[in-house]
Amino acid sequence: MIAHVGLTRMTPPMNPKWNGQFSCFDLVAKKDDCSRSIVQVGGIEIGGGDFVVMAGPCAVETEAQLMQTAEAVADAGARILRGGAYKPRSSPYAFQGLGVEGLKILRKAREATGLAIVTEVMSEEDVDVIAEYADIMQVGTRSMENYSLLEVLGSCGRPVLLKRGMTATLEELLRSAQVIAMAGNPQIILCERGIRTFETATRNTLDIAAVPVLKAVSHLPVIVDPSHAAGVRSLVPVLSRAAAVVGADGLLVEVHPTPEKAMSDGNQSLTFGEFRHMMADLQPYIELQQESRQLRPQLLVAGGAD
Ligand code: PEP
Ligand code: MN
Repeated sequence: MIAHVGLTRMTPPMNPKWNGQFSCFDLVAKKDDCSRSIVQVGGIEIGGGDFVVMAGPCAVETEAQLMQTAEAVADAGARILRGGAYKPRSSPYAFQGLGVEGLKILRKAREATGLAIVTEVMSEEDVDVIAEYADIMQVGTRSMENYSLLEVLGSCGRPVLLKRGMTATLEELLRSAQVIAMAGNPQIILCERGIRTFETATRNTLDIAAVPVLKAVSHLPVIVDPSHAAGVRSLVPVLSRAAAVVGADGLLVEVHPTPEKAMSDGNQSLTFGEFRHMMADLQPYIELQQESRQLRPQLLVAGGAD
């Protein structure tokens, strides 16, 4: 039984500091009629009623690794394949990705499975080539404030998955979304991927409140990346569940055939079996959320406490 807290079309005040002044991100701010944007990728709707899971390895390493992963995540219910061909790494000595070779492997995986492709773009110089292969252009946490890249993405003709900078406020995330929208591209998906705090038990701190706050102030779809938030695979299923319950429109999850041998982010990557179990376990939570969304089309978010 789901509590019915009232069908209201009004957004109550957010953090009073924002003071209802959303002019710095007016193109992506909630519309008067509360209608939401749906980002269409082939037959997939992100931000509509569906919970869309994007899954795959941190980086494209080999054709075999990506093909096996694509088959496994598609069988488990993912709709979109992730995999970096251009990798921003914490260490300059770490694997930087296969570049165009990786993009070609991603294309093969799309042809074999029908999955759409999301992959990261780090530099404006690579936008055209990546847009030839990708269905969604991912902007990583380290690039959220790279305004020259964001401006070029305004005319790339592909939806953009914009990750929150690891030290960025939600307002800063929305301003970056505004830059892309102002440059001509309204197809934007926001992604909470954990922020840097004093906590060291997890790689980052998943700001779960970011989801209802973003959905209350913006019409854009919002997804969660539990992998980079957690940094360890054991936490990924429970954080995914939390994301579904708070109203996320989907997930971005790292999955690898042999995580212990992964060239990047193996610790946080799920095995195929773990991903399959997670997807099955998520179903009741997704249904609960979809039911509550019908009862409460407008999420209520209280104003900040003084
Ligand atoms: C990634 O998705 O592999 C990645 C590098 O993520 P982030 O930009 O969130 O660190
Ligand atoms: Mn990664």
